[in-house]
Amino acid sequence: MKKTCTHRHTHRKQELSSLSSRLRRESRKITGPRAAILDILRHHPHPLTTREIFAELPAGECDLATIYRAMQLLEKLAMVKRFDFGDGTARFELVAEGEDGHHHHLICTRCAEVVEIAECFPAEIEQRIASKNGFQAVTHRLEFFGVCPACQK
Ligand SMILES: [Zn+2]
Ligand SMILES: [Zn+2]
Ligand SMILES: [Zn+2]
Repeated sequence: MKKTCTHRHTHRKQELSSLSSRLRRESRKITGPRAAILDILRHHPHPLTTREIFAELPAGECDLATIYRAMQLLEKLAMVKRFDFGDGTARFELVAEGEDGHHHHLICTRCAEVVEIAECFPAEIEQRIASKNGFQAVTHRLEFFGVCPACQK
């Protein structure tokens, strides 16, 4: 079955050259592992775990610790966004330049199929929560879980 992505950001595959120049502008070296990781991420429309990235890298390219450090750097530079599906494993997705990458996922609890979700809370809910509690800069993290069509059969 072909997976469909509803979120707009997933349809625009980013060029590896523009990702490299973003790194260079931050005075960061384009190491072999960093380039390889960015290349893997740009081919995946859904968040990947460090281990999944590791599994896609050519054997001997780099170890898990190198990938872990690279993901921390890329997250700090806002080139990737970290997602939490509640299983204690960080997942990373590429963020387009100038965007904050805010969006949600729908995850099948049986087969782990991931659907990109474009919908989000109306801004008024966040504003109400913020003003009620005297908070500023309120944001949210949210993932949806359920049973996908294929797993219902
Ligand atoms: Zn996503
Ligand atoms: Zn499923
Ligand atoms: Zn949202």
